[in-house]
Amino acid sequence: MEKKYFDTQMMEKALEEAQKAFEAGEVPVGAILLHQGKIIAQAHNQMESRKDPTAHAELLVIRHGAQALGDWRLLETTLYTTLEPCLMCAGALLLSRVGRIVYGAPDLRHGAHGSFLDAFSPKHPTHTPQIEGGVLQEESADLLRQFFKNQRMKHETVTGSPL
Ligand SMILES: [Zn+2]
Repeated sequence: MEKKYFDTQMMEKALEEAQKAFEAGEVPVGAILLHQGKIIAQAHNQMESRKDPTAHAELLVIRHGAQALGDWRLLETTLYTTLEPCLMCAGALLLSRVGRIVYGAPDLRHGAHGSFLDAFSPKHPTHTPQIEGGVLQEESADLLRQFFKNQRMKHETVTGSPL
């Protein structure tokens, strides 16, 4: 299967997770993790329900994936996320040795692939993941925009929109 088509299909799965977050009243970000081309974990943002500022979709999918593999080293894995990873998730992605990262929309407030700062450009002696953005960017961003629009209608002021 052509790589670009495959990436789009996988991002659709990540978007399904983001949709679950949307419906649960969470900032709609979803992620999935593949090992050797097969999905081993999927998760969505759960900061509100868990009352946990670290419960980002990427971090949860890294934890679930490590449990599924029985190894903290996520070698030969690809992580798809609907939003550019933040600095915290970028750190976890580097430490867990995820090989490739594909994301949807840029996160202008917290993105760690150049939107806010770039945690991926320094060459690391042992692990340098591939990272690229813009896969289903509009779909990913639209879901976030819709979420924050709804929030604004509920509250006078709202903070935290990444767009
Ligand atoms: Zn994050």
